Amino acid sequence: MYNAKAFAAQTQTSPLAPFNFQRRTPGAHDVQIEILYCGVCHTDVHIARNEWHGTTYPCVPGHEIVGRVVKVGAHVKKFKEGDLAGVGCMVDSCRTCESCKENLEQFCDSGATFTYNAPDKISGGMTYGGYSDSVVVDESFVLQIPKHLNLAATAPLLCAGITTYSPLRHYKVGKGQKVGVVGLGGLGHMGVKLAKAFGAHVVVFTTSPSKVADALRLGADEVVNSKNADEMKKHANSFHFILDTVAAQHDINAYFALLKRDGTLTQVGVPAEPLSVQVGSLIFGRKSFTGSLIGGIKETQEMLDFCGEHNITSDIELIPIQKINEAYERLIKSDVKYRFVIDMASLK
Ligand code: NAP
Ligand code: ZN
Ligand code: ZN
Repeated sequence: MYNAKAFAAQTQTSPLAPFNFQRRTPGAHDVQIEILYCGVCHTDVHIARNEWHGTTYPCVPGHEIVGRVVKVGAHVKKFKEGDLAGVGCMVDSCRTCESCKENLEQFCDSGATFTYNAPDKISGGMTYGGYSDSVVVDESFVLQIPKHLNLAATAPLLCAGITTYSPLRHYKVGKGQKVGVVGLGGLGHMGVKLAKAFGAHVVVFTTSPSKVADALRLGADEVVNSKNADEMKKHANSFHFILDTVAAQHDINAYFALLKRDGTLTQVGVPAEPLSVQVGSLIFGRKSFTGSLIGGIKETQEMLDFCGEHNITSDIELIPIQKINEAYERLIKSDVKYRFVIDMASLK
């Protein structure tokens, strides 16, 4: 074991503050990574504040991790000291169930080991995430990072990138399709960039008039103020696919009305309270309402390689870790352009 520095929440109401703990020394298949940057996902806020009622304290959030390999175990093949490396939302899974065998570890029958706030099957206790100076992960769950991309702006690909890439690919979004992205935050702005790169006609739905110009700059073909019923009506029955990234309560039925016959709305945002569904708005038009959870490790690597080829990264605001509580308050107010990333040098 060795000492790791971090920021943790000690209770659901306390601000994140400095915290020291022990990480395992790397085993034969492990990679030890010095964390350079960690993105701030809205999930971190939900979990640090126990909004989903499953948090164990202390809680060290963070699952958009990029850094440099400082040590590798004897049997590690993919990485050597000095390499760039990334870790997303998972650090382990059973590897034998049907989902794991199909490279869908996020749906592991025994429950994937998430990067933080999950029972740690190796060291005991709970996993601690990326708001930390280092992490030790089995190489099967460590990603290769394209060398030429801005490293800090690559961190958010590890969650926001894969969470939007996976459903867009699963539903075969591409040329000739009209695709909506609801909410222009961390996930939403990656959804816009990726859907555009796949060739779709992209429409952003935002509640923030201050984001309209940015949405167009990020690649949207059209932007709709979702609070304006007339603007919404103009798009009735016209979408092949809508990706909803909203983290709070909102009227989902307004978006079902915008889907074409047989269209799909995939929910990736996770409001703490249930959303109310008017079944009529699905029945008329045989529409589908689905969910999607991050993506498997193989697909995450595919996404990183795709972003490398197409020079896609996140638009970020780099913060020292001492500003993390302020960043959370801003996320809650939708005041994010478009992902906070922690510069881990500030932890030293
Ligand atoms: P974020 O950066 O805070 O973005 C969410 C955006 O939703 C906001 O910027 C805002 O965009 C919009 N919004 C917020 N409150 C709203 C409201 N009351 N009504 C309508 N729109 C509202 O959050 P994020 O990091 O992208 O995460 C979004 C959600 O996805 C969170 O719930 C997170 O837990 C979840 N998530 C899920 C997965 C998964 O695998 N399914 C993975 C990662 C995250 P505008 O200003 O444009 O309106
Ligand atoms: Zn996330
Ligand atoms: Zn499994």
